[in-house]
Parts: sequence; C-alpha cells; structure tokens
Amino acid sequence: MVPDSVCIIGAGVFGLSTAIGLGRRYPQTKVTVIDRLEPPVLDGTSVDTTRCIRVDYKDPIYAELARESMDIITKDPDVSPFFHQCGMSFVYDGGNDKWADIWINGKVAAEKANEGYPDRMRYYNSPQEVYKSIHGVDSKPVAKGTRWNKGYTNYLNGFIDAEKSMKAYYERAKTFDSVSFIFREVDSIVYGPGSRKARGVKLVDGSIVATDLVIVAAGAWSCKLVNLDGICKSSAIEVAWYKVTKEEEEQWNKMAITTNLSTGINLFPPYNGEIKCLRRSPGYKNTLQVPNPDPTKQEPVKISYPRTVVDHPTDWIPQDAEDVLRDNLAEIMPALAQRPFDRTKLCWLTQTPSANFVIDYHPDLEGVLVATGGSAHAWKFVPILGDKVVDYMEGTLDPTLKDMWSFAEKLQITSDNGSAPRMDGEPQELGEVVRKRPN
Ligand SMILES: Cc1cc2nc3c(=O)[nH]c(=O)nc-3n(C[C@H](O)[C@H](O)[C@H](O)COP(=O)(O)OP(=O)(O)OC[C@H]3O[C@@H](n4cnc5c(N)ncnc54)[C@H](O)[C@@H]3O)c2cc1C
Repeated sequence: MVPDSVCIIGAGVFGLSTAIGLGRRYPQTKVTVIDRLEPPVLDGTSVDTTRCIRVDYKDPIYAELARESMDIITKDPDVSPFFHQCGMSFVYDGGNDKWADIWINGKVAAEKANEGYPDRMRYYNSPQEVYKSIHGVDSKPVAKGTRWNKGYTNYLNGFIDAEKSMKAYYERAKTFDSVSFIFREVDSIVYGPGSRKARGVKLVDGSIVATDLVIVAAGAWSCKLVNLDGICKSSAIEVAWYKVTKEEEEQWNKMAITTNLSTGINLFPPYNGEIKCLRRSPGYKNTLQVPNPDPTKQEPVKISYPRTVVDHPTDWIPQDAEDVLRDNLAEIMPALAQRPFDRTKLCWLTQTPSANFVIDYHPDLEGVLVATGGSAHAWKFVPILGDKVVDYMEGTLDPTLKDMWSFAEKLQITSDNGSAPRMDGEPQELGEVVRKRPN
C-alpha cells in the first residue's frame, strides 16, 4: 500500500528514482526527500564523471532490465545527450579460472544482445590486438604483455556523465508538486516509545519530519540508520584521473571503456580532457562505533561508514592502490604509468553478498522500507528502479524480483552472481593506509 506521506533518505539513483516514480503514479502522496547535500551529491556513489551503461549481463533478468533501462535512457531528451555509446571491452589474461568463465559468459550475453548486428562486436586474440584496440591499428605495443591477452568489445554499451544526469533527474523530481527536498543530515529514524514502528526522522539540528513511511535509500551510509548486518557491507574502491593533452585525446578518442577482469582495472576513454581509471579491488573499510540503530537495543555497534572528500578533502588513495593501477598501466597505457594523478577519490558503495539489490521492508521494523545494496552496478537501472520500489509498495512487484531483492535472499546466498565482480580478498582498514594529497 502506498501511504499518504513518505520520507526518502538519500537522493542518489535509488532515492531520486523512487521520488519520481511516486510523483508520477501517486500525486496525492506527500514525498519528502532528505539528503546531506543538494544533488548531484558530491560524494554520493551515484555522482561521478562516468558510469557504464551496459546490457551484457549473464543473468537474463538483469540483462532484460538493463536493456529496458538503456532504451529509456537513449530516448530521454534530458539525459540521452550525456550518454556516449563508445563501446565496452572486456579483457582477461587468457587463463582458466573464474575470470575466464565471467569473460565467456559476458561474451555470450553480448552476442545475444547484438543478434542481427555482428558489426557491434569485435574480438582480440593476442596482447597486440588488445593493445591496438586502445591505441589504434598502427600502434606498436611498447611493453611485453602478460595480462591483457584476450578480449572483445560490445559497441552497444557506453558511459553516461553521472553528474550531469543526476542533476537532470533531480530537476525532474522537483517538477512534481508532491515532491519536496530538505538538505540536512538525518540523525536517526524516530520510533514510537518502546516500539519498532517508525513515526518519522530526526535531523541533526534536532527537528523532526513526521511521516507514514521511511524509505532508507542512503547507499553506503544506510547501515548507520538501520541494522544491515549480513545484508549490506560498505566499502570503497579507488578511482584516479589523469589530465591528457589534446593530442592524446585524439589518439585515444576511439577507445572503448576497457576492463581487465583478471586484474580488476577499468579504463575510460578521454572525457573532458581526462582519463579515469579505477580498480574493482576488495577495497577499504572505515570502522566506526555508532549508536545501535535498532530502537530497542542500547549497546553501540561497529560499522564500516563512508569517509569522503566532503569531510576529508585532502585524502588521497592508498599506496597499494596507486601501485596496482600504475603496474597495469605500464602494460596497457605506458604513457600514463608514471604520470602524476590529477585527482583521486575513494568511491563508497554498499555491497550485498549476491550483488542483488535490496528493495524490502526491514524485517525487524515497521514503516521502514530499505532501497539500497547497489553493489557496484545499480546506476544503469535508474530509469526503472523507482517504479520497482513503487510496485513493491503496491504489492505488484514481479515475484521473482521481489524474492531476488529481499532481505531473506541476502541471508541465503553467499556468493556474488557475477553482475559486478570484485577482486578476491578482504577490505583494508582505511585509517591505516589513507594518505594526504601530495603537494
Ligand atoms: C567506483 C564505482 C563504480 C561504479 N560503476 C558503475 C557503473 O559503471 N555502472 C553502474 O550501473 N553502476 C556502477 N556503480 C554502482 C552505482 O554507482 C551505485 O550502485 C549507485 O549509484 C548507488 O546509488 P544509491 O542511491 O544507493 O547511493 P548514493 O548515490 O550514495 O545515494 C545515497 C545518498 O544518501 C545520502 N545520505 C546518506 N546518509 C544520509 C543521512 N543520514 N541523511 C541524509 N542523507 C544521507 C547521501 O548523501 C547520498 O546522496 C559503481 C559504483 C562504484 C563505487
């Protein structure tokens, strides 16, 4: 049932999309979206120079949802100008391990998505061919390669400017009379005395926003507002940008987004004079002790909680992250391997065990719906996520999606479904390895 008033905490892809879905379908419902900052939120996971929009999921359910979302994005006059269909290449070392399986599954899914359009696919069977896919057919590999050995490009995929598009979605949400915004941090959810029934939210200035339903769409910050033990874990991935010259931009402007599955490196083509690279590493955690978010429990709990450029503007990615990025670039983009980064960040995300999202009422609470668990692949679904949340509230969400995005599924499935795989290993404690921006 969709109630008379809803308060959404978070204006990322989950929160804004839900506000738009409610605004469209339930104009009588009063929707208040609360965020720490005005969108596009500087350190929100949904805001970045680029986010990949791709359809080649092995899982047929995500593949269909991704295709539906891409079609909506390409037809949407407000966001389609920010979508660059430059293609996505997936490469691996040619070995015989889980990355080979993920690569083959991705290739099969890409070929299926491009049935009838063979020109949209390209294949590389040697390090030289992979190298030329980035640097041009006349280029000569300057380093001996061992990890960038075999690949394919799917030209249906591409990247979107995630900052400009989030601004466009924010502007759209504001057009609904029923949707309003508050820019302040939520301190906690307010419950009736001795109860687990939510009545509203308390902001850090002490003011209360009363509501019938709280939707927690606070991404990597959600674990401070509700108990998500065993459901979502917050960690951060390293991202770095290089400035490139006009000549370099021209040289690389035909490259596709290039991901090496075996090493986790993800390189973007030049955009606005920059090349971005990141690594899908086990990442970093930031352990904090916070008040127990369960209203009936007193003892504090330890969680991993975002530490970002907003409070720590001089933070710089750890040395091991820099070393691995440079080591990979030495093989595939040697011109950048020794160049200083222009800027870096740790991008926070919230990961579920299966990489399936969470859209479900919190099982221990009343009047609290959780919409998060993006697991490093939710951005591309922004055109449909909010409708799925509204379907869930109505009780009309497809039963397969309902199960897939439930709390119960997270407690049963312990392995990643391959939707956005990360390197094996445990996140490091950020406080022990964080550095300051070099002078
Ligand atoms: C490095 C990286 C690369 C990625 N690449 C891709 C990709 O290529 N393609 C793709 O589809 N997906 C990608 N993703 C995943 C995607 O970006 C995320 O799944 C998605 O953006 C998560 O959105 P969200 O709404 O859950 O979180 P967010 O965008 O972080 O939104 C949560 C909001 O809640 C607000 N908030 C938190 N706590 C409070 C509080 N107490 N009070 C008020 N406001 C609060 C925050 O300020 C924030 O704006 C990537 C993720 C990462 C980290």
